[in-house]
Amino acid sequence: MQYDIAIIGGGLTGVAAARLAAERGFSVVHFAPAFAKDYRTSALMMPTVDFMLHAGLISDPHAFGTPLRKIRIIDATSRLLRAPEALFDSAEIEIEAFGYNFANCDLLDAFSQPSQHFDVKETMVEQIKQENGHYKISSQDGTSVSATMLVGADGKKSKVRDSLGFASHTTPFKQSALVADVEFDRVEKETSVEFHYENGPFTLVPAGDNKINLVWLDDHEVLQKVANMPAADFAQELGKKSHHLFGHAKPLTKAFVFPLSNLAVPVVGKDGAFLIGEAAHAFPPIGAQGLNLGLRDVEDYVAAIDGLVPGFSATDARNASKKYDDLRQGDLKRTGGFVDGLFRSLITEMLPAQGVRLGGVWALKSLSPLRKFAFQFGMGR
Ligand SMILES: Cc1cc2nc3c(=O)[nH]c(=O)nc-3n(C[C@H](O)[C@H](O)[C@H](O)COP(=O)(O)OP(=O)(O)OC[C@H]3O[C@@H](n4cnc5c(N)ncnc54)[C@H](O)[C@@H]3O)c2cc1C
Repeated sequence: MQYDIAIIGGGLTGVAAARLAAERGFSVVHFAPAFAKDYRTSALMMPTVDFMLHAGLISDPHAFGTPLRKIRIIDATSRLLRAPEALFDSAEIEIEAFGYNFANCDLLDAFSQPSQHFDVKETMVEQIKQENGHYKISSQDGTSVSATMLVGADGKKSKVRDSLGFASHTTPFKQSALVADVEFDRVEKETSVEFHYENGPFTLVPAGDNKINLVWLDDHEVLQKVANMPAADFAQELGKKSHHLFGHAKPLTKAFVFPLSNLAVPVVGKDGAFLIGEAAHAFPPIGAQGLNLGLRDVEDYVAAIDGLVPGFSATDARNASKKYDDLRQGDLKRTGGFVDGLFRSLITEMLPAQGVRLGGVWALKSLSPLRKFAFQFGMGR
């Protein structure tokens, strides 16, 4: 079977790309094997929410998202140089909210409502070969298809990236991220509260009523131990880490631990192939950038194919992939550099770097133009 576009990967970026490509009239095959429920949540900034609305991926963020209007940062380290407490309010830049916090599984449900039909294969891709300008894709269940354009949305260990010789560089971290849903006696409504500890932030993201989504970065062994604790001990640990500011903590879900790494991919589009989402970049979940960046990949992917007509040639696909690569370079470098710098400054034991961070928080706290710039940058503008 011959298609215009084959999309590999059924995570949020793959589902969004498949749906938007099919809605533009292209013949699409989507390889999306079933996977365990995604218990992560994503803080998506206003420009990303606007993109999802404009593209028709969601219809009303209020229906299943919690607005994020304030961000409170508390330096909870015992370091010599500690930053002052800081509160950032979206009203300062005259917007209703910085963004919304969504459950990934709710986003996936919303994205999986295509208005156009396309073929979905619930199977893992095993082999990808390029023959006469087309991609031949074979999968675990014996399916074999051909496509003029290929999109790799197949995550950090992307087969598309590795099979087609895209260069990449991975740096594993000793830190992991623990996520869980927790209810407190009281919470700061629509405020994300970040406690910065020596090994990484402990962040409480509002999820409606007195519920929060916890994202806790720490050494992998520490988090693994916490994840295996009985619920009562876990609750006690959460109270301690949040300085008992919000009363008693009640875990609502089991804790899940995600190992962290940095992945940099210098070229993300070539020869009619495109890398999007975590196939193209990955970093620790601080500053809420990963899926925001992944959905900006999808936005630029759509911009790169928008001039094409169904049945396009391999040359058209090559030109579109080059256009996509050009469109993505600036954003990928800026965002990757920002998150890497932020993460290293948070976990550093070096006094000069702690001083720079402290100076940075003071400047952000006191200088209005710098605050505004930081707000816009953090939101991906
Ligand atoms: C703890 C944590 C908190 C986070 N919080 C935020 C946040 O607040 N804001 C934010 O913007 N981002 C956040 N992120 C990042 C965000 O979750 C990811 O960037 C996003 O989910 C990645 O989506 P994806 O579609 O690119 O990849 P994935 O979700 O990894 O999807 C890849 C898919 O490809 C499939 N696949 C792999 N190989 C094959 C194959 N050979 N054939 C077929 N299919 C294949 C897999 O089964 C998988 O379904 C967070 C991440 C973590 C770990």
